[in-house]
Amino acid sequence: MKDYLINYDKTALEYIITHGYNQPVFRAGQINGWLYKGAEICEMHNLPSAFRLALADKYEAFPLSYKFDLYEEKTDTRKFIFSTADGIFIESVALNYDHGICVCVSTQAGCRMGCAFCESGKGGLIRNLTPGEMLSQIIRISKMLGRRITNIVLMGSGEPLDNYDNVKEFILRANSPDGLSISMRNITLSTCGIVSGIKRLIEDKIFVNLSLSLHAPSHELRSKIMPVEKAYNINEAIQACKQYRKESSRRITLEYCLIEGFNDTAECAKALYQICKNTDMLINLIDVNSTKGKYTRNSAHCMRNFVEKLKSYNINYTIRRRLGSSINAACGQLRSEYAANQNGGA
Ligand code: SF4
Repeated sequence: MKDYLINYDKTALEYIITHGYNQPVFRAGQINGWLYKGAEICEMHNLPSAFRLALADKYEAFPLSYKFDLYEEKTDTRKFIFSTADGIFIESVALNYDHGICVCVSTQAGCRMGCAFCESGKGGLIRNLTPGEMLSQIIRISKMLGRRITNIVLMGSGEPLDNYDNVKEFILRANSPDGLSISMRNITLSTCGIVSGIKRLIEDKIFVNLSLSLHAPSHELRSKIMPVEKAYNINEAIQACKQYRKESSRRITLEYCLIEGFNDTAECAKALYQICKNTDMLINLIDVNSTKGKYTRNSAHCMRNFVEKLKSYNINYTIRRRLGSSINAACGQLRSEYAANQNGGA
């Protein structure tokens, strides 16, 4: 099986081409430059053709192949399905904002966190994605759209902090001038609350925008929809976020899927106030995408009422625009449907 050049940073490429191919060191810079433009080995025209052939004998450029994409005109959102070299389908979403293109990256195939409202968690974890597979999602999309990617959110399928070492390398290479040159301020990592991972981010000084998938404001309620609560309870998760805020100076966002009849009560709003008071935390209210489970989308009326409750407590909030709902852009929905069709399923 071939190896993939994107798996290696510039320093590692220097070693490979000087030791394995007896080429001058500057060729590593040429290859690295081509990779971030999305070029295949045969398109790296400033390399000697004999060297290109020798490289292609052992390597390919990227470990992901494009399968298809779906576009939602209303929200200017495009969802992509890629296949890994071992035949797993993964998905990424390109969100077109006024200030640029943001790619929502998957960090794992599947997920073992088991959140009740999420399609990605339904089949469990298949495997961790490599840094090269995460970078390839962005590079492939950038080339297909002909646009530079300005922002990254780690909110696709998978729990990023359950794949810590690979995600750390991905972030560092996305940030590097030899990589994608994307500012840490333009990278957002969303976690369901893996406290040990948040502490490692602090130790490693990886200071991106941190977003905690809260979704319920008490241990009792959160336990019903998020099994992670058994390992790291809500108080520990909030404390870790406050520590991250202190060390990084980055504002923390709390993601809150509003689920009608579940987490939209006056008690919930009050509990959110208790969490947010004396902080600059921001509540990001999300319309739940309806998967096949029991947690269904809230009504506009429910959202309006809950917003009024938050306002009465002076809680900072935003409402996330519902992206890609007509193209199954809930976490994991499109990928699982495509995989089911490939396997002859419904
Ligand atoms: S919401 Fe995120 S952490 Fe939870 S199961 Fe889905 S992908 Fe995993």
